Amino acid sequence: MFLENKNSRIQQIHFSEIENRDVTLFIKREDELHPFISGNKFRKLKYNLEESAKQNKSTLLTFGGAYSNHIAATAAAGFNFDFKTIGVIRGHELGNNFAETIQNNPTLKFASAHNMQFEFVSRADYRIKTSPEFIASLKEKFGDFYLIPEGGTNNFAVKGCEEILTEEDAKYDFICCAIGTGGTISGIINSLKSHQKAIGFPALKGDFLQHEINKYILKQNNWSLNINYHFGGYAKVSEELITFINKFKRETKIPLDPIYTGKMVFGIVDLIKNGFFEKGSKILAIHTGGLQGIEGMNLLLKKKNLAQIV
Ligand SMILES: *Cc1c(COP(=O)(O)O)cnc(C)c1O
Repeated sequence: MFLENKNSRIQQIHFSEIENRDVTLFIKREDELHPFISGNKFRKLKYNLEESAKQNKSTLLTFGGAYSNHIAATAAAGFNFDFKTIGVIRGHELGNNFAETIQNNPTLKFASAHNMQFEFVSRADYRIKTSPEFIASLKEKFGDFYLIPEGGTNNFAVKGCEEILTEEDAKYDFICCAIGTGGTISGIINSLKSHQKAIGFPALKGDFLQHEINKYILKQNNWSLNINYHFGGYAKVSEELITFINKFKRETKIPLDPIYTGKMVFGIVDLIKNGFFEKGSKILAIHTGGLQGIEGMNLLLKKKNLAQIV
């Protein structure tokens, strides 16, 4: 067993914007599962690492953007458990001056320090990354590997995410989770009790998620997506969002990332203010991690002379 199943702690949130409301908000600190294999990426990698070992494959290959939490987590997992790792990264230009790229990108710097080897590809190649031809060209270049899809989502990942909720979590009425590819919420939906509802907060625009999630869930229909809190799209942020993240941290001591959990908690707080949840509801938000992305986002914000995450 590479990653032992663990239960993360749950904290009740006391936040001025939702004081004296008739609902209670809690957060499950999956971000604390591991210092580097953080949050839902821990859950998603767990059974993929086991499967890779079972298939006697010593190299993991996966895909991601230049600031990807999944890339960072896969590099750390490979480093810890003796897998070679290859990251196929979107952005051919990043390979032109590798030293400079690493200098300006904390995520790739971290992955490189954990021995990940990179293949920087054009946006066009990145789009066809799952085609048999492209995979064959990668095999020619790197030899045999265990392939983990972008964002880590496959059946093994969903199985790992089914371990996020435990029997004790049955006391919550709503389970809220940020969404990228949909793998994490699929696992959560599969482990819901019949009286519970899941609400997913997509961190990006697009209408493919309903379909993606339906591929992985067993038969539940007690879930929904709230598509109103993507803030313009993937990795897009606003000053309002950054201010919110900083205020939330100041009052609760809980750090949120700007790509996923910040948007989700903003959404939950907004829904509470608007009276969306019925009186007495207990809401559990899943902190899926992603905190490694703050440094990279701050560099971008600084370049644009905008307020940063503190
Ligand atoms: C990757 C990630 C997500 C999205 O998970 P999916 O399974 O792709 O939906 C959510 N939150 C954080 C912090 C992440 O890093």
